[in-house]
Amino acid sequence: MNELELILTDIFKCSRTNLYLNASSVVFKKREFKSFDRILRNRGRGIPLQYILGYTEFMGLGLKVKKGVLIPRPETEILVETIIEKTKNLRLSAKGEKTKNLTILDIGTGSGCIAIALAKFLERVDIIATDISKEALDLARENAQSHNVVENINFLQSDFFIHHFFKTKIKFDIIVSNPPYVPTFEIGIFDNTTAKEPKVALNGGIDGLDFYRRLSKYAGKFLRKGGLLFLELGYGQAEKVKEIFSQGWTIEGFKKDYQGIERVCIINYG
Ligand code: GLN
Repeated sequence: MNELELILTDIFKCSRTNLYLNASSVVFKKREFKSFDRILRNRGRGIPLQYILGYTEFMGLGLKVKKGVLIPRPETEILVETIIEKTKNLRLSAKGEKTKNLTILDIGTGSGCIAIALAKFLERVDIIATDISKEALDLARENAQSHNVVENINFLQSDFFIHHFFKTKIKFDIIVSNPPYVPTFEIGIFDNTTAKEPKVALNGGIDGLDFYRRLSKYAGKFLRKGGLLFLELGYGQAEKVKEIFSQGWTIEGFKKDYQGIERVCIINYG
């Protein structure tokens, strides 16, 4: 949906189809004008529409969003779809372990979009979702509750692997992350809505690659042999990420987004 459709379906509490089918009943009275005016004023101040409305859609799931937490992007759906696709093979290769739940670690879960979509679309999963931000975790928990997947997801406030939970010898089948990957000086330059989003979810350091370096160093310890690491990447980062993961890891491949940008990287451990 485009922004105007999103605004109108919100104001008139109807679906996009109904907006067009019943166009004659889309009449602005005082209440509708007031809402429209409020939304446009905030939009004019550069506030992302998703923050104004308080929700967005991710893989067909309605999720709450709010200032202070990164807004889920369509590109991240490709990351989730890639995991769903690959997981089928992973399960097939885990002979004799058919009854075992798949264990997944989601680092930097934000609104919870990745963890919740995986819990919804994959069966038998145990997910740990971490974030450094308590605000994000509270929202992610709320979103998990509204999609009935709290049983499958444990939320942990942790900066990467700092939490004492990671002192145990836990190993996951899958680690996934959409880490902050925007180079510091680029934040808010190309896309002014990001200027209103939390820096902690965007800032990947001088070259945007800080978190890939950290992951290449520490994530292997928490993956079982043959486990997979799925990462979202920023524009033009594929070659550099390849280099960063050149030791101890094998790059399985990349997935492009709708603009032909290599957006997802699949990396094999061991
Ligand atoms: N995709 C976001 C952007 O380009 C960045 C999200 C991130 O850093 N993981 O604005």
